Parts: sequence; structure tokens; C-alpha cells
Amino acid sequence: MSPLNSKLIKTQCYMDGCWQDAADGGRFEVLNPASGERVAELANAGAKEAKLAIEAAHAALPAWRAKTAKERSQILHRWFRLVMDHQEDLAQILTAEQGKVLAEARGEIAYGASYIEWFSEEAKRVYGDVIPAPAGDRRIVVIKQPVGVVASITPWNFPNAMLARKAAAALAVGCTVVAKPASETPLSALALAVLGEEAGIPPGVFNVVCGDDAEAIGRELTAHPLVRKVTFTGSTAVGKLLLKQCAETVKKTSMELGGNAPFMVFDDADLEAAVAGAMAAKFRNAGQTCVCVNRFLVQEGIYDAFAARLAEEVAKFKLGNGAESDTTMGPLIHGKAVAKVKEMVEDAVGKGAEVLMGGGVSAVGPEYFEPTVLINASAEMRIHAEEIFGPVVALFRFKSEAEGLALANETPFGLAAYFYTQDASRQWRVGEALEAGMVGINETGISNEMAPFGGIKESGSGREGSKYGIEDYVEIKYMCMGGISGS
Ligand code: ADP
Repeated sequence: MSPLNSKLIKTQCYMDGCWQDAADGGRFEVLNPASGERVAELANAGAKEAKLAIEAAHAALPAWRAKTAKERSQILHRWFRLVMDHQEDLAQILTAEQGKVLAEARGEIAYGASYIEWFSEEAKRVYGDVIPAPAGDRRIVVIKQPVGVVASITPWNFPNAMLARKAAAALAVGCTVVAKPASETPLSALALAVLGEEAGIPPGVFNVVCGDDAEAIGRELTAHPLVRKVTFTGSTAVGKLLLKQCAETVKKTSMELGGNAPFMVFDDADLEAAVAGAMAAKFRNAGQTCVCVNRFLVQEGIYDAFAARLAEEVAKFKLGNGAESDTTMGPLIHGKAVAKVKEMVEDAVGKGAEVLMGGGVSAVGPEYFEPTVLINASAEMRIHAEEIFGPVVALFRFKSEAEGLALANETPFGLAAYFYTQDASRQWRVGEALEAGMVGINETGISNEMAPFGGIKESGSGREGSKYGIEDYVEIKYMCMGGISGS
């Protein structure tokens, strides 16, 4: 990994302010998805290390919680500055372990940093309430306190930003954190810890435990009574498992799970705007984001024109190693992901979809899937029900607004939804009717630190970013002050 900044490359876990190996000396490999080459070999932590990290986080809690909001704010703000000062280094690490193109990796670092900046500001605004009491000798006061030790479990698709937006909110209010990044992409999390330490985050306040036995680490994080909150981003299946495990000790949870985003194009849409929005919302990270469009639902009057224009744009991608400057789409995360996308395309074609473009594993290499456009998709196909997580556009057709909406909502998921129409009444009507936590109307750039990110239905609970995001990390305490006599 020669050009990478060696200060930021860590191969041990970060616990209680120290870089530590696993007790049994075990190690695991991190591979570059673009080539299969080894990027690094890391300490392979398990349940034992997770327990030590929890204990360190618990020990660090009283002093961190006792700091003034302004002190925590200043530390977080220094962290934000350091992340931005190292944007290029962090982006290169991200691309090496994750595969996304460098331009997107730089964007992710800035996006993750924006949450650290935001929560450094919100730290000072965790207000309580004074409520009129039912009796003259009492006062009702509501204060907000940190939930305590927070366990964070994050996925490989945004290894920097998913952790940054959880940790920043937790630390801002006075919680301490044990982070478990995905075993595919732990280096970005460890690099964040390096910069956190430099920013002045005290030992034990932010810990990173990485290992390839997610189940064992996850069991410890969800079972340990000292962990008071689990925040998770990942698949719905694992989210459900973690919720069950958390039930034993009644932990607070935030779950950001899978999506099945519809993208509706009405006959009255601005075609060029819809195509541009579709490209941005479908192909970021080679289609591997939870808010990526899964189903394009296109009204019959604009269907052919939209399909043709979209295919023209899709044809422009250049696949390759994300570290090369002319690459516009990188590989999928691993061979299993490629195989799953391939199966879903084959299933669709077997059930009547027509391939307008692409459709298979790319000649660039076995890690790459061709940007693909399928027309005549239908509700019987796996593509309608399951998250594709790859660069595949599937176009469904609808006649009326009601039919389109029914199709859009015909899913247990409810993360993001998008639609394009120039009719102002329809913008409100459809916006209100879509069952999703986030709706983009003539816009697909919906994720930013100022807005509440999160889903409904089986896409999860809780919100990240915005003024709402901080609420997930505080407990409400009501104090009733009695015996207050008149003068
Ligand atoms: P993806 O399909 O994006 O890999 P996962 O839900 O499998 O989604 O992974 C998201 C995060 O959850 C990763 O950090 C992964 O290591 C972790 N994970 C996977 N299985 C478990 C489990 N049984 N318990 C705890 N964490 C898990």
C-alpha cells in the first residue's frame, strides 16, 4: 500500500487508547476488491476483545459525560478538521479496501466529516424542558442524558461515513463507543480512530474492535449489560437478529437496514432531469448503497423515451480499478456479490425481462458486473422483492398514478423513494402516499447531515443526522421537584 499515509494505516484494534493485538494472536486479511490482492493483515478480535472494549468504554464514561458540551464540541470539531485535512489519504485507504472510485471516496470522507461537524455543533443544543405542573408546590423538569456505552456495527459500503455519523452523535451527547466495522473494510474505521486520538478523544471513549467473526463480536455487544444502545447499519436479516439479541437486556436500538427504493417517472416528468437523477441514484458505489434505486417504475407514456435515454447514459461508464483516474465504476465488493447480482438478472430474464444493455459479468474481470438495463420487469421477479446491490436498472411499467403507487409500496421495506413529476399537486399527493422514511421529489441527492436519514417498515428505526439524530443517543429523565412553598 505504498502511497498510502502510513500514519493512518493501523493493523491492531484500538481499545482504551491503545493499539492491541487479539489475545490469541489471530489475524485476518483485508483484500482489495479491484484485484483480490491483500491490502493488510489485521488483529482478529473476537468476543474477548469486545468485552475488554466495552469495559474500557464503561470506565471512560463518567469523565466524558461530565465534560461540558462545549468541551466535547471542541474535540469533535478538531476531529472534523483533521478528517478533512486527511481527506485524500482517507479516500485512498477507502478505495483500496472498498473498491469505489476515488472521486466517490473523497466524497464519502467529506460526507462522513460533515456529520462530525454537525454533531460538534448539536452537542451544545441538547435542550431539556420545563413543563407546567399540576400542583403549585411542584415543578416538572425534563433533562436529557447520554444513554451510556454505545455499540456501533457498520457495513462495508460506506466504511467511513456510516461510522462517523453514529460515533459523532453518540460522542456529542456524552456516550462512549465501541465500534465494530465490517471485516471487509476495517482500515477506514481504524484511521478515524487515529485522527480521533489526535483530536483529543480520551482513552476508552472511542474504541474499534475488528475481526472476521461478526457473529461472536455481535453476540458480546448485544448481550453485555453495560452496553445500553446498539446502533446498526446493514442487512435486514442481521438487523432482525440483533434486535432479538438486544431484547434480552432491553437495549435501545437504531436500525438502518435494507431498502427497496422505487424511482417513479410520471408522463409529465422532465425527462432529462429524471435521467440525471436516475444515474446518480442508481450507480453510486456501483449500485451498492441502501438508498440506491432498486425498481424504476415508469409511466407508459414516457417509458420508451426514458429507457432509451437512460441506456445512452449507462453506456458511458468505464469500469476498472477505482484508484485509476479515468475509472467511473469500480468492482463489486466480492465474488459472492457478483454471483448474487448475476442470479437476479438471470431470474428476471427467465421471467420475461429483456436486456437492453449489459446483463453479465464484465470482461474487465470477475469482480466487475456490467452496467445493465432491463426492460419489461415485473412483480414476479426477484428484482422486485430483493435488494439488487449492483449496477442493474430494472424498468417496470405502470398506467395510472394509483397503480404506480401500489407497486411502489408493495414491499416490506421503506427506506428511500424517488419520483419525478412537474405536477405540483402530484408532488404532494405521491410524496405523502409513498411508504418510505425519505422521499426525493425531482431530486435524488437526499443524504446530508442536516436532514434525518432513516427508514420505516422493515428498513429500520431511528434517524441519523439532523436535530432528530441526537435524540437516538439520549435518555429522557423527568424530575419532579416537590415541596416548593410560596413566599
Ligand atoms: P452486508 O450484506 O452489507 O454485508 P451485513 O448485515 O451482513 O450486511 O453486515 C453489516 C455489518 O454487520 C458488518 O459489520 C457485519 O460484519 C456485521 N454482521 C454480520 N453478521 C452479524 C451478526 N450475526 N452479528 C453481528 N454483526 C454481524
